[in-house]
Amino acid sequence: MALSGLDIYKLLPKTNCKKCGSPTCLAFAMKLAMKKATLAECPDITQDAKKALEESSRPPIALIKLGSGDNIIEVGGETVLFRHEKTFYHQAAIAISLDDTLSDAAILVRIKEIEKISFERIGQHIAIDAIALINKSSSSEKFLNVLDKILLNSKKPVILASPDPKTIEGALKKCSDRKPLVYAADSNNLKDMCALVKAYKTPLALRAKNLEELDKLSQEAGGLGIEEIVLDPGSETLHGALNDLTQIRRLSLKRNYRPFGFPVIMFIKNTDKYQMVIDSCTFIAKYSGIIVLDSIEEDVLLPIITMRQNIYTDPQKPVTVEPKLYKFGSCDKNSPVMVTTNFSLTFYTVSPEIEASGHSAYLLVTDSEGMSVLTAWAAEKFTPEIIADAMKKIELENVVSHKKIIIPGYVAVLSGKLEDVSGWQVLVGPKEASSIPKYLKEVWK
Ligand code: SF4
Repeated sequence: MALSGLDIYKLLPKTNCKKCGSPTCLAFAMKLAMKKATLAECPDITQDAKKALEESSRPPIALIKLGSGDNIIEVGGETVLFRHEKTFYHQAAIAISLDDTLSDAAILVRIKEIEKISFERIGQHIAIDAIALINKSSSSEKFLNVLDKILLNSKKPVILASPDPKTIEGALKKCSDRKPLVYAADSNNLKDMCALVKAYKTPLALRAKNLEELDKLSQEAGGLGIEEIVLDPGSETLHGALNDLTQIRRLSLKRNYRPFGFPVIMFIKNTDKYQMVIDSCTFIAKYSGIIVLDSIEEDVLLPIITMRQNIYTDPQKPVTVEPKLYKFGSCDKNSPVMVTTNFSLTFYTVSPEIEASGHSAYLLVTDSEGMSVLTAWAAEKFTPEIIADAMKKIELENVVSHKKIIIPGYVAVLSGKLEDVSGWQVLVGPKEASSIPKYLKEVWK
């Protein structure tokens, strides 16, 4: 639990020496509580106080990083139970499993397919986050052989799933620089696995049969100096998993219970497509940090990814696109110019319709703080002055020669004033984006 300014003050030297730049220790304590200062700025703090303050300022759920270079994923680090309380920061990673009993050819095909899953949705690039290599064969040789293929053909973070410490050691020798997740230590191999992840500085997943055992494992791993932990409660049913995940999240956030202050990994065991989607969406919503799936089918992945995107969108911050002039097709001085707001959903509704029209056109996107057309108009964020200002800033008169601008049909009321302030002829476009192709074909001149 975060300490208040007063709690922090009690641990400071209380000499008001000003060496930290604050006039008093209390002022410094307040700054620390607001995260506007760091402990290192007070040179006289005692080691005991430092330890106590560092411990209390640790996030209730640790942030765990996997991967290296441009392929790092971060999981955990959440601070609230419900998204509407603040926001969720680190979206659940989606990993696809790859088992080492597949033939060499099938392995390469699977890796290629995983790499191929990449697309854009409302301005965000979406791809599979990690590959989970499963030691289904129980053979160290086969496991390492498949790992070689993954390392050669993919830069994604890897989850090394084998119960055998020797196999894991062989794998870590090959890829510890990629910071893989070792899955998993249990009551049989905990000490060996902890020694390995300590030596190779990589995170460790703990797998238990129930929460009591998980608690014990986490305490033991903590006692052995392991700080980067991912939890697997070993839940057998969806109902049980939901219960376990909720308890872990509640205990870590509400009680600051350190053994459960880590992200959770869940394997989707169901093979029925619909159930896979249901399980995955449930775990993403409450409260998994990583899910591992055995499917690369689009009809399974798309709903899961869409749901994840919705959950991990800040409800207080509308998704926006950059306000600027967008070009569709091979625009020239005679191309039409349409105008809209920078609400992402508006932009991604309008732009495909312009593209589908086959007509080259400009789309001027103004800064409406992420509001849709009607909301922005009502909130005075999409006014004639704002539009005219945006036209001026991008020097629209040098882009086209016709001095005509098309506004959305829903805000036809803006046309008179916009003509006055911009000096351009204002055309009232369609109300619905779906009518844009018809408008450009039949009305625009
Ligand atoms: S440097 Fe430390 S002791 Fe001095 S005023 Fe700041 S907080 Fe207090």
